[in-house]
Amino acid sequence: MNILLLGSGGREHALAWKIAASPLVANLWCAPGNAGIAQVAECAALDPADHAAVIGFCQSNAVDFVVVGPEAPLAAGIVDDLAAAGIKAFGPSKAAARLEGSKSFTKEICAAQNIPTAAYGHFRDIAAAKAYLATQGAPIVIKADGLAAGKGVVVATTIEEAEAALDMMFEGGFGEAGAEVVIEEFMQGEEASFFVLCDGAHALPLAAAQDHKRAFDGDQGPNTGGMGAYSPAPVMDQAMIARTMDEIITPTLREMAARGTPYKGVLFAGLMITDQGPKLIEYNVRFGDPECQVLMLRLASDIVPALLASCDGGLDRIALDWSDDRALTVVMAAQGYPGDYAKGSVIEGLDDAAQVEGVEIFHAGTKADGDKILANGGRVLNVTARGASVAEAQRRAYAAVDLIRWPQGFCRRDIGWQAIRREQAKD
Ligand code: AMP
Repeated sequence: MNILLLGSGGREHALAWKIAASPLVANLWCAPGNAGIAQVAECAALDPADHAAVIGFCQSNAVDFVVVGPEAPLAAGIVDDLAAAGIKAFGPSKAAARLEGSKSFTKEICAAQNIPTAAYGHFRDIAAAKAYLATQGAPIVIKADGLAAGKGVVVATTIEEAEAALDMMFEGGFGEAGAEVVIEEFMQGEEASFFVLCDGAHALPLAAAQDHKRAFDGDQGPNTGGMGAYSPAPVMDQAMIARTMDEIITPTLREMAARGTPYKGVLFAGLMITDQGPKLIEYNVRFGDPECQVLMLRLASDIVPALLASCDGGLDRIALDWSDDRALTVVMAAQGYPGDYAKGSVIEGLDDAAQVEGVEIFHAGTKADGDKILANGGRVLNVTARGASVAEAQRRAYAAVDLIRWPQGFCRRDIGWQAIRREQAKD
């Protein structure tokens, strides 16, 4: 079959790499793609925000199936528009994508099904928000309601900090995303990202991962889109996965179906594993980036039948095999990220780095210039490795990182530290 993948990040390189390995695929395009994706798919100069152009491309190239990587086209209704044109697409409808697009919508779903999550209030008015805050105390979490590229959350340790966050959001610090604000109970525990495929009625668990959001070693510095990840997440053992399915995922699918907006696609639950069990922090309606990279490295089965079943139904008849290996990815970013950074610096040594045993290098923001690879974004490369332990995967990933010559880039040197500490405690 002919497949078009939408997106251009490391997540999409990992998806393209996995889809390209499927014997079911005749042609694979990626729009717009990047220099790494170009090694496994044909890049098409299409803007995923231009739905008419995407539909036109599918019609001219006999595309059978569209896989949507990022959240923005999903929130804009690309799956609905493709369906209206008779083109099958992987991902939720615009109505179902509200699970990511609106935090207060997700809270409503949780309340309707008693899904464990933080107590909260939502506000359009700063005086009411501050009055509620005064009744709650600190620590407390302040969130812009809409999509804010993962940056709309302030975990405030004092009331003053929380009030400053409210002032900033109501003054338009996050634009429209901050017109409505959610104030949430602070949950204590260990975080994990858990991924399931859904077909509207059934959920097929994929795997769990843990990421590192802060820019610098020791979980210091500003929040980023993610500086590294590993899978599986030790805290998500079989019992915790079963509880998460029963208490969080299944009731969510039931509620979405009951509302006439069944959820299809990948559902990414951001969880806090507390003393009382798993609690939902938030949903995302697409694969995490960089979590997708470690999931794809561990997935032994063909992914295409599962993506198709998510769209057509029948996920209950799909079983996926996962490697027992641990996988870990290190994000190499341009210096200055997540603030201002320069584009266009030359990256060398990628071929040598890719030779390190167990390593796959996924490109996030790169561009080819003749036979040179140039940095073309904030997060630029995902050096991903498998190993019998997280420690081995980490050793391999950093051995590859050390062969990459890119003085304008940086990475964290401690990705996986919690999991490695657990491994060492067991030995
Ligand atoms: P979100 O964008 O909702 O995933 O939030 C970003 C980060 O803020 C999460 O990954 C958590 O580290 C933290 N966070 C969000 N909500 C809470 C909460 N209610 N309690 C504790 N930490 C939270």
